[in-house]
Amino acid sequence: MWLYIVIGIGVLFFLIICFCLAVANFSFDNFKEKRKEAMSYRASNGMDIRDFVAIINERYLDGALQVTRCEEYRDHFSPGIIALSSSTLGSNSLASFSTIAHELGHGLQFKKGELNKHWQRKSKNRIFGRFFLPLIIVGIVLAVLGLLNIVPFFVLYIGVGVFALAFLIFLIACYTKYREIKIEKGASNYGLEFLKECMTKEEVKICNEFLNSARLTYWGSLFRTMLGWTMLTQKEKMFN
Ligand SMILES: [Zn+2]
Repeated sequence: MWLYIVIGIGVLFFLIICFCLAVANFSFDNFKEKRKEAMSYRASNGMDIRDFVAIINERYLDGALQVTRCEEYRDHFSPGIIALSSSTLGSNSLASFSTIAHELGHGLQFKKGELNKHWQRKSKNRIFGRFFLPLIIVGIVLAVLGLLNIVPFFVLYIGVGVFALAFLIFLIACYTKYREIKIEKGASNYGLEFLKECMTKEEVKICNEFLNSARLTYWGSLFRTMLGWTMLTQKEKMFN
């Protein structure tokens, strides 16, 4: 009986790891695929994408946002600015509307103060991140010296303690990435509200699917951070 339970848990664990590895390695390809698909749908409202920005900007953001250009796949929000790629601005596809609505969603988060708190926490955690590698090295050196009796044996425990601190930083990195996903979801939720004002239900559904695939890339980043040590995923910065 117990054997089956242990085997069952083992199999489940293996499947979860496989799933996480798949997301870690293929979420961006999946996003590109979904983006291509969403680009093939034109918004039926016939609205120019810049008018959409202007309307939402005026209605929700006191008209304070400026639009600037950025590289492909680098669309983002920074205080007072949404940076959009030429392909996003150059079409009225559902992919473009979704991307812009999402960035405008970040604009609303910023206005409500939700984004600032997150950024502050992130920059604080980035400082912790600098200690990660040094702590690992010091931990290993102390543990080895203690084990080999080159220094008193209790130094081994100090080494393990230092290692535990590095592990704590790793957990903070994972948690920070998880918080990022929550922020992304929040921005998309606001974005969907904006889209509902000018699109059909069917169109909003396609936009939602596209935004979900974008969010999956953030899960990919989290899983790459968690599983980078397995060498089965691409490298990922712990704090970005
Ligand atoms: Zn975002």
